Amino acid sequence: MQKYDVIIVGAGVTGLLSALVLSKHGKKVLILEKNKYVGGNCNSYEVDGFQVDTGPHAITHLLEGPLKRIMESYFDYLPVFEDYGDYFIRTHKRIVKVPSNIKEFVTFDVLPKMDRLLLSQAITKALTYTTFGMDLSKQSVYDFLPKNLSKDTYEFADAISYFLSGKDMKYTSAQRVLEGSAFLRDSVDPDQLENILKTDDNSSDSNEDDNEDKVLQNLIPFNLHTSLQTRLNKVSHPLTTLGRLATNKVSYSQGYPRKGLKSLLNAILYSLPKTVEIMVENPVRKILVEDGVAKGVIADDIYLADLVIHTGFAKDLPRLIDDLPSSYVKELEGIVQTKSLTIWLGLDTTMEAFNYIGSEIWFKEKPYWAMPISNYDSSLAPEGKQLVGFSFIVDQDKGERSEIKKAYETIYNAIPNIEDHVEMKHEQIIIPEKAAVTINGNFADIRTPVRNLYLAGTDTDRRSMGITRAAYSVIEMLRILTTDGNLHRRGEKNSSP
Ligand SMILES: Cc1cc2nc3c(=O)[nH]c(=O)nc-3n(C[C@H](O)[C@H](O)[C@H](O)COP(=O)(O)OP(=O)(O)OC[C@H]3O[C@@H](n4cnc5c(N)ncnc54)[C@H](O)[C@@H]3O)c2cc1C
Repeated sequence: MQKYDVIIVGAGVTGLLSALVLSKHGKKVLILEKNKYVGGNCNSYEVDGFQVDTGPHAITHLLEGPLKRIMESYFDYLPVFEDYGDYFIRTHKRIVKVPSNIKEFVTFDVLPKMDRLLLSQAITKALTYTTFGMDLSKQSVYDFLPKNLSKDTYEFADAISYFLSGKDMKYTSAQRVLEGSAFLRDSVDPDQLENILKTDDNSSDSNEDDNEDKVLQNLIPFNLHTSLQTRLNKVSHPLTTLGRLATNKVSYSQGYPRKGLKSLLNAILYSLPKTVEIMVENPVRKILVEDGVAKGVIADDIYLADLVIHTGFAKDLPRLIDDLPSSYVKELEGIVQTKSLTIWLGLDTTMEAFNYIGSEIWFKEKPYWAMPISNYDSSLAPEGKQLVGFSFIVDQDKGERSEIKKAYETIYNAIPNIEDHVEMKHEQIIIPEKAAVTINGNFADIRTPVRNLYLAGTDTDRRSMGITRAAYSVIEMLRILTTDGNLHRRGEKNSSP
């Protein structure tokens, strides 16, 4: 029987980041992953000579967000981020930059002039409310919008809502849209991680071994691509909410990892100390609980640990643990999820239609979000060719096949001639976030009713999205472990297998 300090269920980006930070705090960690490969939804692989990612990704909040904090403090190797570029709206006639502040919004002529004025007023009102501390997370985008807008404008609001929450504007909160479109700051409290790190440094009973355990705070330069770094340096002070209304600069802190999403995964894997053991194709079937305390897990064998951190779906817990309190099970059942469909098209040439750096939104009928990722890095496609990923939200009331068919029709309708250039097609249906931020959806707490069993991942934190949210959850989990006395337990040596 094996004994560890921590067992982590799941080797997605949350599980791997958790393993990285905990092992650098001196914990002996075992990660159990049910799939053949690690990385979960943060990965890249080859299809007919093109390198696709698990969905198109923009890595956000690189300027001051939680991933940057973890990278600076715990990574030994860093990915290089390419400047993300801009967001565009595609119409049948042209492609237009998405406004990132009110001034640009007023001249955004994809929508009727009167609607733009009404929308600007609605955004200003929402921002004023939040500036005075009002929480808009239970108010839907639809409730907030004027009721006499054109069909185009409602479709636009729906498309933005879909991409930020996975649900339409009636289920997406106004808060979500303000944060996701970077009108509002949703970044980590800069003191938060600092305080966690300080606990190590200031510990009165620290011994020599602790020096090795100490995190690599601020030793590593943040290795951003030069042009992105230059842009990031311009934004040295957090702007106030209303200041941001005029000069919205937050989207500057987005990037695409050079060589694809897997380079972020590789940077984490290479940074893991040798004390981290990873087992793949080893699903956790049960979490062992004795007298209300987690003791380990059952996978292909029994593995014991002082702490268990579950980074799969929180919704799966009732399957993994018998006798959870029914009120807790009910809370987990209230977590809302959506499914995404990504269609990757490998094109036999570089098309004029994708002659930009960034991503585009199609907001008519079936909205999509698309990224020509080979524009960041030509090695992702064979020479002279192009790779574009188109992501849709899957309507769960309709069959997957009809949704795929409709998605292809939408792409072929939106971009004239693209069909003639398609030489590779690849589809992915994935749950992008373990919990969607809707006005009625639940999130799980990091603490569970079982002592020493914690959760981490995108269903435990509402802030931001995707990998940024996963990083928030890891920082929050660290904070909670510290508070519970589980991060810096002194006088306990690492247990050996
Ligand atoms: C189309 C699409 C677009 C996206 N766009 C962006 C974007 O632009 N920016 C961004 O930051 N993020 C984006 N994301 C989201 C981002 O990829 C995910 O939020 C992130 O990768 C989730 O990481 P995770 O570790 O929390 O979860 P997962 O990747 O789901 O990892 C969980 C892991 O746990 C394993 N597991 C579960 N249960 C068990 C068990 N019982 N035993 C063993 N193993 C288990 C699973 O196999 C999996 O490997 C996008 C995702 C998609 C699909």
